[in-house]
Amino acid sequence: MENMDIVFVGHVDHGKSTLIGRLLYDTNSLPKDKIEEVKKTCEALGKDMEFGFILDNLQEEREQGITIDTCQIFFKTPKRNYVIIDAPGHVEFIKNMITGASQAEAAILIIDANEGVKEQTKRHAYILGMLGLKQIIVLINKMDLADYKEERFNEVKQDIALFFEKLNLKPSYTIPVAAKYGENIAKESKKMVWYKGKTFLNCLDTFKVKKRNSDKALRFPIQDAYKIDDKRIFSGRIESGTIRQGDEITILPQNTKTKVKSVEKFLEKPTMAEAGESIGITTEDPLFIERGNIVCNGNLPMVTDRIKANVFWMSKKDFNINEIIILKLATQEVSAKIEKIEKKINSSTLEEIKEDIDMLRNNEVGTMIIKTLSPVVIDDFNYVPELGRFVFEKNMITCAGGIITE
Ligand code: GDP
Repeated sequence: MENMDIVFVGHVDHGKSTLIGRLLYDTNSLPKDKIEEVKKTCEALGKDMEFGFILDNLQEEREQGITIDTCQIFFKTPKRNYVIIDAPGHVEFIKNMITGASQAEAAILIIDANEGVKEQTKRHAYILGMLGLKQIIVLINKMDLADYKEERFNEVKQDIALFFEKLNLKPSYTIPVAAKYGENIAKESKKMVWYKGKTFLNCLDTFKVKKRNSDKALRFPIQDAYKIDDKRIFSGRIESGTIRQGDEITILPQNTKTKVKSVEKFLEKPTMAEAGESIGITTEDPLFIERGNIVCNGNLPMVTDRIKANVFWMSKKDFNINEIIILKLATQEVSAKIEKIEKKINSSTLEEIKEDIDMLRNNEVGTMIIKTLSPVVIDDFNYVPELGRFVFEKNMITCAGGIITE
């Protein structure tokens, strides 16, 4: 069955843990003894079943390393498995997302119906936009505290929609729920008959999983060029698409064209290869091709020397704009400098930083314009992430990760 990686975000106490516990429970994704254990704990405390405890319980075990199979928390619907990856409570969240260590395919933003949109709600929405997430569900939670009233739902929905608009974002769905009571989570709510949309799980199931990279246009970044006998072989890893003997190819950034003469693999001579494979090729024409060139076909990526990106600075050493730094993107390596930092935020508090706007400090994330000293080949991050993402290196040390936005 297919998997989808998702994240839950939202202001503290708006109901993330409760919702996750509820989802695990309603989708029968937990062992029976686990549920009994939590029920007993709640009874002992003289409380109703607290679904948030399910998550706490799992997380505690995870930290103590007791159960191995709860390393990743997941729940399943008849359609697919959902893997709950990091949450922004963790400092590592943005870093992992930007550097590609984890890649959410959808996000759920939770808002307490009573409290409405808070500062942290806005900051989390901002981060979702920054990470290029498009599949977003907004849940207006704790509708029971608002007497399940449609008016209150519409007020909060309107508020968040306006803020999303400023970020150039649009929620795929906005749903009134009560995580604690399971209203509109796995089952349609009888308390909110005025809501005509689908339940949360049904909405989630409409999202699309990442397209397989081999179905896209060819992107084959060259790692090495060498000569065996009288053959010149260009090798690397195919990041997307397929390559076949006889295919017309374009080599960027120099923009030369030729055909694939042969596909070469260790001790093999296949006629084709696809995304994920490390191979070599020879070409019909004796072109000059070197490390850092990108072999493409189909719709071509962009060649540019100026990019807009969101960059996460993760070095103890501060960095001033206009300092020269090495930008590494797939196998490309070019000198670059930051021309301008448009906005930066503190990655743990998510607060905007207004002072020292021309420098970057450890754990700051910024939107900036970068100028490369020679052209680079780039792609839309959402199309081929490997060509839409880069790292900065100084003295052979990686000091930042970035996602290209324009
Ligand atoms: P988190 O900080 O976002 O993970 O929030 P929690 O899941 O810990 O929830 C915070 C509090 O809100 C807990 O006491 C929950 O029981 C409560 N809560 C969560 N969902 C609901 C709901 O739908 N209705 C009501 N009345 N309370 C809820």
